[in-house]
Amino acid sequence: MYKFFSKGSKFYGIINNLCPKCQSGRFWKESNPYKNIFDKNLGNCDSCDNCSFKYEIEPGFWYGAMYVSYALAIIFSILIYMLLVNINNDIEVFNQFLIISISILLISPVNYFYSRIIWINFFVKYQK
Ligand SMILES: [Zn+2]
Repeated sequence: MYKFFSKGSKFYGIINNLCPKCQSGRFWKESNPYKNIFDKNLGNCDSCDNCSFKYEIEPGFWYGAMYVSYALAIIFSILIYMLLVNINNDIEVFNQFLIISISILLISPVNYFYSRIIWINFFVKYQK
C-alpha cells in the first residue's frame, strides 16, 4: 500500500501530473484540468522539462487515449447512475440519461486530462 502512493509508482505519477519517465517534470502545464483547457488551452507539454522525454512517442499516439477516455466515461456514468438511484429511485429513464450526459460533459476536461496521462503510463516505465 505504501509503495502504491510513493514516487516510482504509476499511480503517483498520474495523480500528481508528472512525466511518466522521470516523475519530476510535469506532464500537463497546469495541474487543474479546467484551467488547462479553458484558461490557457495549453495542451500537454511536448516534452519533459526535466529529462526532455518527448511525450508523443509516435504520430497519432494520443488516439489510443480515446479508449481510456471511453472507459473513464463509462465508470463515471455508472457512479452517477448509482448515486441517482440512491438519492431517488423514481427518476424517469430519460431524466437519468439527461443527468448522466450533462455530468459527462461537465467532467470531460478531467477525463481528457487523465486519459492521456494514463495512456502514456501504459507504455513508459519510470527510470531513476
Ligand atoms: Zn521527465
